[in-house]
Amino acid sequence: MALRVEPSAERALRGGHPWLFGDSIREMSREAPHGSVGVVFDRKGRFLAVGLLDSEGPIRLRVLASGKPARIGPDLFRERIRNALDLREDLVSDRGTTGYRILSGENDGMPGLVVDQYGDSLVLKIYSLSWGPHLRDVVSSLEAELSPNAVLLLAARRVTGSPLAPPALQEPALLHGTLSDHGTLSFLERGLRFEAHPLLGHKTGFYLDQRENRARVEDLVRREAERTGGTALPVLNVFSYTGGFSLAAARGGATEVVSVDASGPALRQAERHFELNRDDPRVARARHRTLEGDAFGILSELADAGERFRMVILDPPSFAKDASQVRRALAGYQRLTRLGLSVLAPGGLLVQASCSSRIPEEEFHSAVHAAALQARRPLEEVERTGHPVDHPVTFPEGAYLKCLFARA
Ligand code: SAH
Repeated sequence: MALRVEPSAERALRGGHPWLFGDSIREMSREAPHGSVGVVFDRKGRFLAVGLLDSEGPIRLRVLASGKPARIGPDLFRERIRNALDLREDLVSDRGTTGYRILSGENDGMPGLVVDQYGDSLVLKIYSLSWGPHLRDVVSSLEAELSPNAVLLLAARRVTGSPLAPPALQEPALLHGTLSDHGTLSFLERGLRFEAHPLLGHKTGFYLDQRENRARVEDLVRREAERTGGTALPVLNVFSYTGGFSLAAARGGATEVVSVDASGPALRQAERHFELNRDDPRVARARHRTLEGDAFGILSELADAGERFRMVILDPPSFAKDASQVRRALAGYQRLTRLGLSVLAPGGLLVQASCSSRIPEEEFHSAVHAAALQARRPLEEVERTGHPVDHPVTFPEGAYLKCLFARA
């Protein structure tokens, strides 16, 4: 299937951008079902890019190779997996960490497809219908390179919700091996024991992208504990999900950790994660409390009740799903900053993250600083962080994660 595109799209593809939008296609040789291979040529008939066609959504072609032609199939997929493993060498060789992202979509040359490893199992999640016809090749490539015990397939809501989705993509499917314990996948993160529940949970079952920030939290709490030796060190983890940051804070030496989330099952899993790690004396010593409900309301209640924490972590879901929501999202982050500071002890640490790709890093940081100033709690930055090594960024829209560590 050959395509010709608008000049602006030619430039973008030449620059290595992985998306071709439907409205920049000038000419298509014929209608093709999703998953067909599409080849884009420039005005002079020279090759520009090759990728998979999608029949749904604004992105009509996801690029697998640009600049020089490539055959889309198992050899290319295996090469992509090997490159991804090379990039993640430090993680792959770290025996204390067995949960990480192996393929991060566009950013690893596999647009619209994610593979996360949890122990010996892999969770493959597709965000585009175009991968349907290629799944067999993807799985055989994963088997060849990684010898997993199991490969579980999940499809994002935008795929399962499509009227064009074949029944095989509408339900999670085990494409290889067997799963034990009702789909619970055990893994280690920096020596801490966790469980992912791909069938019930968010993403593929765990927020692997926050691993390095959790390590920073542990480190900061540890230094705080050393500095103030022996005094109470309560930490508040808001939007805790299954308690990744809570465990990190506990192992760092927090005397009490409060996990707040709207999801009861996520909080129960956070409790289970504390149980699983009781052999660590600091985790065993930390008192863990969970509060279920709306974070904004709970933060106000905690403030009114006079509760104060030495560290407050705010890691909300994306507030801006599209461009029209950016202003409201920034206001939401600012409200959170003010609420977070209202329960932060003087001189305490604020950790605030954003996972909205629509919010540019600079704007996020300025908004948080402005809100803190307004609350008369100016922030002294400790660190700003972005993406961990297993969530690389290779094109502008690929960047979503930012986090601010600051003293107030
Ligand atoms: N920090 C977590 C990931 C957070 S994901 C980690 O490291 O694993 C965002 C979480 O916010 C989800 O668990 C979701 O259930 C929760 N959430 C979404 N809206 C909420 C709200 N209004 N109040 C409380 N929790 C909310």
